[in-house]
Amino acid sequence: MKITFLGATRQVTGSMFQLTTEEGYSILIDCGSDFSDPQYSYSPAFPIDPSTVNVVLLTHAHIDHSGYIPAFIRAGFKGQVLTTAPTAALAELLFEDNASIFRSRTKIKIDPAEEAAMAADRMVPIKPNQPFSIREDINVTFIPVGHLLGACSIHIEWVSKGNKKSILFSGDIGRKDYPLLSNPSPMPDADYIVLETTYGNRLHSGDDSSVEFIERIVKETCVDQPGRLIIPSFSLGRTQSLLYTLQQLSLQHRLPKIKVFADSTLAAAGTRVYERFVSWLNPQARALASSGHSLFDFDQLIPIRTYKDSKLISNYNEPCIILSSSGMISGGKVQHHIRQNIQNPYCTILLVGYSVAGTIGNDLLTGKKVIQFKRKKIPVDARIVYTDIYSGHADQKGLLDYIEQFPKRSNRKVFLVHGEWQSMQDFAAILNTTNSLDVHMPEKGNTYEL
Ligand SMILES: [Zn+2]
Repeated sequence: MKITFLGATRQVTGSMFQLTTEEGYSILIDCGSDFSDPQYSYSPAFPIDPSTVNVVLLTHAHIDHSGYIPAFIRAGFKGQVLTTAPTAALAELLFEDNASIFRSRTKIKIDPAEEAAMAADRMVPIKPNQPFSIREDINVTFIPVGHLLGACSIHIEWVSKGNKKSILFSGDIGRKDYPLLSNPSPMPDADYIVLETTYGNRLHSGDDSSVEFIERIVKETCVDQPGRLIIPSFSLGRTQSLLYTLQQLSLQHRLPKIKVFADSTLAAAGTRVYERFVSWLNPQARALASSGHSLFDFDQLIPIRTYKDSKLISNYNEPCIILSSSGMISGGKVQHHIRQNIQNPYCTILLVGYSVAGTIGNDLLTGKKVIQFKRKKIPVDARIVYTDIYSGHADQKGLLDYIEQFPKRSNRKVFLVHGEWQSMQDFAAILNTTNSLDVHMPEKGNTYEL
């Protein structure tokens, strides 16, 4: 068996790793969009011929792990995509959304629903924690890892020259005590580990719980003054965690009597998927659901369905909360809410996630006093607040916990992927000093014999 690193090498996006047996059977782990690639497009250039791949295993639905699957199929991939049932459901929503974005930007004639259905047809749901034979000599186990509904690490075992061998792909590792999601599960031992390092050199600030934090921001923005709170939020994952936090405040009578507008159709569809897969959620969320309460719906919540209504709430003149996408303010309806309110000193814009350079989210995150909407320059008078409470990624300590659960073995190879170069180097330095591991940071195209 050999492994080839085809993406997410010394960078975060574009997860794609290939295992190939001696006879040439080919397994792809993740098939993610690479946002750093200037060729990033509806039909990207793949580093391998998709028709030579036998099966794709998908860790989770985020687009930097799943986004190239439709293009991979169009380019000749004939096999199945094995993943968990919630991941398949979320990925289908994201494929449709992604195709709509391509259609609007490039004028390519595609039907987003057809594109999503084509990819969904290939997806085969696999039960977690149960070894599944993809061939008589190769077993695959999906093990829940928090991070996003349905997300898993993938453990693969095979027999080589009479010896059992194994590799573990971490996927994106979630954090402990995250709203809605379970903690990462304990992992089985493996000879090789392919580890994400998004937060390889950072720790989360550990001050408030999400409930206390949101309660404080709502009070400061909407009670102490007649203001409005705008939360640009990623539609799948963050929005559900935010709604769940607001629902908890509502049930505990800690949410002031203001309207909460949920303004994203993709987020609404994502919420339905979370409701379908309650058994995947953490014990606290499952207990709330089994007591007959909704996890996401409360009296003050108003779903916004039309563009016209979305425009109207930008100017709603009572204190309120607006949840809208996209999280990076790089598109979507949140743009007109920000445009209308950025000069309002009574408005707080709460950033709950990272934004890449070149987006308005990044301009606000980095403290720019003037931002540009299309050609117009607009001063920032609203209060900007950032929190990492809703980040779905383990921080440096969480990554170390993941690695340190395995018995110490000097011959264990760890491949670091899915991190900025500096983050990866800093994390490698820690692994080299505190753990006797054989640490590698492969470059794109590198192949290792396993
Ligand atoms: Zn992810």
